[in-house]
Amino acid sequence: MEPVQALQKYFGYSAFRHEQGAIINHVLNKKDVLALMPTGGGKSLCYQLPAVMLEGLTIVISPLIALMKDQVDSLNVNGIPAAFFNSSQNPEEQVQLTTKLRNNQIKLLYLAPERLFGNESKMMGFLKTLPVSLIAIDEAHCISHWGHDFRPEYLALAGLKLEFPNIPVIALTATADKLTKKDILEKLNLKDPAVFISSFNRENITYRVVPKRKSFNQLLAFLDERKEESGIIYCLSRKSTESLAADLTAEGFAAAAYHAGLDNALKAKTQEAFLRDDVKIIVATIAFGMGINKSNVRYVVHMDMPKNIEGYYQETGRAGRDGLPSEAMLLYSPGDAIKLKQFAMIADNPEQSQVMLNKLNDMVRYCQLQACRRQFLLKYFEEDSPPNCGSCDYCLTEFKKFDGTLIAQKALSAVARLKERFGYTYVIDFLRGSKNEKIREEHKALKTYGIGADISKTDWLRYIRELTGMGYLYVSDDAYPVLKLTPKSDAVLKGLEKVMLIESQTVEEHQHAEATLPFEAELLTELKNIRRDIALHENVPAYIILSDATL
Ligand code: ADP
Ligand code: MG
Repeated sequence: MEPVQALQKYFGYSAFRHEQGAIINHVLNKKDVLALMPTGGGKSLCYQLPAVMLEGLTIVISPLIALMKDQVDSLNVNGIPAAFFNSSQNPEEQVQLTTKLRNNQIKLLYLAPERLFGNESKMMGFLKTLPVSLIAIDEAHCISHWGHDFRPEYLALAGLKLEFPNIPVIALTATADKLTKKDILEKLNLKDPAVFISSFNRENITYRVVPKRKSFNQLLAFLDERKEESGIIYCLSRKSTESLAADLTAEGFAAAAYHAGLDNALKAKTQEAFLRDDVKIIVATIAFGMGINKSNVRYVVHMDMPKNIEGYYQETGRAGRDGLPSEAMLLYSPGDAIKLKQFAMIADNPEQSQVMLNKLNDMVRYCQLQACRRQFLLKYFEEDSPPNCGSCDYCLTEFKKFDGTLIAQKALSAVARLKERFGYTYVIDFLRGSKNEKIREEHKALKTYGIGADISKTDWLRYIRELTGMGYLYVSDDAYPVLKLTPKSDAVLKGLEKVMLIESQTVEEHQHAEATLPFEAELLTELKNIRRDIALHENVPAYIILSDATL
């Protein structure tokens, strides 16, 4: 039977999506594969279909019991014999399952990685007696320290290729970030793997970033037009998920909290109520969502800035799996960024700390972006796209532009004069001819000093962000980011390139107006809070505060 016929027969779908067809052909030819496909793209089918077509058993490694249960249930509904080992089964049930496996009555066996390699586990020995034809590793990014969802148990999967040297392995993930990709390939020891990357563009999702002010009111205004719809609201801390869920309930919404600290029964209950639409809104930490296959999630809100783009993209990707228009809204405050930065800086391992900071800086860049958000996101996953998606907040706003070449030249020359050693605030002080004694004494002899005194701080900040968005300036990845010139700067400085900037007025109407101004006073208070937070956690190792597992 051809794969596409099997697709119709077993799953009732008429055609493959994305790269499914090509991936499945490779797997059927016993080749190792790494498949990168966005959330909701249809990764499961890439091993489920080969599993029914191949003789023998397919082993599926998956990180969460809830995930396995969902998949096994829906396979069984389709008449495909699938099962999973799990600690809640009694010995009798386990024996029954073992017998079925021996009799070749199961096509897919789901397992958590710790089951496979546990110390006293006889699992590996048992599996080796079975006719295994394929091994699938779902959510493969869990093997990478650099991913947003590292699970130490996954590291043991490196041993799979030794135990089953001739069995093809397919690894699947929705995290296509360069570093994570490399990590997966290395750690799993895949043999000459074919890497398939599907487009990560989720056309039906509109991306918005809104300055965080009175967040609860902002949220209520957003929900006002969406009372009947399902959504997920992400918060950074467990405590705030609970208080926000309570506040929403008090406002008459069917909302429930979800985080890793709740007991399993409650978590399962909440999840099911959400799937059945009894609960409309889940207020959750990032512990919620992996593998949740609810197609009609209409919006995803981030009340706090996420730690990195991969996590953010995966979370927003839970909206609109049915292909209908959906919203992703993020409330951004510079204070959140500083807080996360401080936490990243105190990670015990300097390498880890640097990677976290870099990722955080990319996230901040995204929040402060004055350009198409979709293009930025796709570029992050190394995918090209046209500069105007037409469906992010930036592209949906009509801007009036003016010839800002002179302004651009002033900004770029200030950065050059300051030898690319300072951040926004300092560069703007320099441009405006700050009265600050120290800055003045140091630079007043320079001709460039004060050349931008006619423009307000707010406008300068915005212009510089715009120039950064257009690639004429670059913000370094350091803990204290500084502005730098780029290869594109030269043409502007020499007057060879015209630069169009957005007129102030339209920006004022635009949601981003002044949004991202790092008000000094606000920042100082924020820094004090952070020091206090850290002091409170003095005896707690940093990785505990940082670890996603504690969310
Ligand atoms: P992922 O694991 O990539 O997030 P899933 O494997 O859970 O995504 O698939 C998401 C949804 O898309 C599921 O409801 C699945 O049944 C559906 N799907 C997958 N492949 C196809 C296809 N070729 N045609 C139609 N629907 C599909
Ligand atoms: Mg999946």
